[in-house]
Amino acid sequence: MSFKAVRVDKADKAVVARFVEMDEADLMEGDVTIRVTHSTVNYKDGLVLGGRPGIVNRFPMVAGVDLAGIVETSSAAAFKPGDEVFINGFGLGQSHFGGYAQKARVPAKWLMKVPAGLTRAQTMAIGTAGYTAALAVLALERARLTPKRGPVLVTGAAGGVGSVAIALLAAAGWRVIAATGRTAEADYLRGLGAAEIIDRNELSAPGRPLGKERWAGAIDSVGSTTLVNALAQTSYRGAVAACGLAQGPDLPGTVMPFILRGVSLLGIDSVNCPMPRRRLAWERLATRLDLAKLEKMTSTIKFDQLFRAGADILAGKVRGRLVVEID
Ligand code: NDP
Repeated sequence: MSFKAVRVDKADKAVVARFVEMDEADLMEGDVTIRVTHSTVNYKDGLVLGGRPGIVNRFPMVAGVDLAGIVETSSAAAFKPGDEVFINGFGLGQSHFGGYAQKARVPAKWLMKVPAGLTRAQTMAIGTAGYTAALAVLALERARLTPKRGPVLVTGAAGGVGSVAIALLAAAGWRVIAATGRTAEADYLRGLGAAEIIDRNELSAPGRPLGKERWAGAIDSVGSTTLVNALAQTSYRGAVAACGLAQGPDLPGTVMPFILRGVSLLGIDSVNCPMPRRRLAWERLATRLDLAKLEKMTSTIKFDQLFRAGADILAGKVRGRLVVEID
């Protein structure tokens, strides 16, 4: 039977994504076939939908880095028809057909069951962005940071990673300083648990190699000069988790925060993160993320509104998270 999908093809120096009809026989190899019910729009999805090259590395591809759905058939013992499952990353939408299709076939080793207490739609409301925020929180804790050490900075605060990070950090007792370009969203950010809002312009222009010590840690989804300034204002033996590049992929700074203050820079990768750490992150999300806050940060769109949403996320217009109803 045919189904609707967003296929990405190579085109000169860009890629082109468009809705097509596909057939089950077109799906890639895997031991579990899923009826996809929900996906989401992450920043990376916006780049692919907008035709940016460098993310998809196999053509043709089905876009969408996240999916949630119901198992239809499985040759893997761990999954049976009717199981509610989801996937984040593992090359979905980049090297393996992803979540913007009504069907998916994937290796069982990438799949997780929807945690008790969450719905399929909620796993996508969290999505790669929220699970990355949870990985970043775990990384700060692994660096032995606790709320007693001082406040924590979250950059890109009104975005997907930022919104979930604020809610998780506030739940763990942190005093959260949220850096945003959308100061009109101050009430939204306070509602998620931010104690202080600062304008992102304070961090986006080149600053001093070492500044006043303002926070014990940071979760940064912005990169570039913002990440450099976040490091320069981190207190002695603090840590910064770097997970994004909304401002840019460059790191135009000095080693001063590392060698004079013992600050650590913690890299966060969600795509190939090993399963045990993913499980820890999802356990944290399922047990500690306030679902009322998740609802506040989430908007739901239909499958055919996807391209508009992709353009919006690149333009920095999406607040929090977007769920896509695929089915
Ligand atoms: P969003 O677009 O939802 O959030 C990004 C936020 O960054 C925006 O909402 C905005 O926040 C801020 N921002 C945007 N442009 C700029 C700019 N030029 N200068 C400063 N701040 C800016 O995206 P996501 O939350 O989904 O992803 C955030 C980043 O994290 C992306 O770069 C993404 O690729 C990366 N990422 C990395 C992952 C990993 O595995 N490491 C996984 C998931 C995401 P505000 O309006 O509050 O200023």
